[in-house]
Amino acid sequence: MIDRDIRKRLIVAVANRIIAGAEELTDLDRAIGDGDHGSNMRRGFEAVLAAADVLSDKSFGEYLTAVGMTLVMKVGGASGPLYGTLFLSLGKSLADDVSREQVADAFAAAIEAVKARGKSDVGHKTMLDVFHPVLGALRGGGDGLPERLKATARRAAEDTIPMKAIRGRASFLGERSVGHMDPGARSSELIVDAVADVME
Ligand code: ADP
Ligand code: MG
Ligand code: MG
Repeated sequence: MIDRDIRKRLIVAVANRIIAGAEELTDLDRAIGDGDHGSNMRRGFEAVLAAADVLSDKSFGEYLTAVGMTLVMKVGGASGPLYGTLFLSLGKSLADDVSREQVADAFAAAIEAVKARGKSDVGHKTMLDVFHPVLGALRGGGDGLPERLKATARRAAEDTIPMKAIRGRASFLGERSVGHMDPGARSSELIVDAVADVME
């Protein structure tokens, strides 16, 4: 059961993790993009954090939708509409009373929505390269799931280092995008890590 207390803790944990990681995200984006991923994400999640109490009063579905709308409005860049799409899609299908399977199904649908929005796929060196393996871990379930989600996200973000970017600004660099972690993969890892902390 996702009650108000959990909704609030999720926002606080995720937003604070992104805000604390903003410098690192910007450094990663400076290497293969335009150096704004951290400031983009911080702006969005500061707005989410400022509205934490109002958002947490809503049902889980409405809350996710409101987070998605805030991210679309505040983050900007490529990542704003994409993270916005993710949360808006989750908000369509998730209620307060959800099972792990329902969350996994909703996450799978949200990943498809991001792919459609970004004309992108797994293997293109983006946030999708973290979402996809995390979905696999979530489907697997079992004991110690939060730890497994964290480890999966961490490895998945690291696995973007040798990839060549096919989508996003990093793709303009072609082969020179190889050898750097994708900033959106890292921000996705931070979000998964913070959610898993609340699950523990
Ligand atoms: P911008 O590139 O417009 O400056 P950001 O720096 O905020 O936007 O976000 C860049 C991140 O967005 C990338 O690291 C990547 O993970 C993600 N991204 C960019 N384009 C796409 C896409 N078409 N599909 C999925 N993710 C993408
Ligand atoms: Mg950028
Ligand atoms: Mg930009």
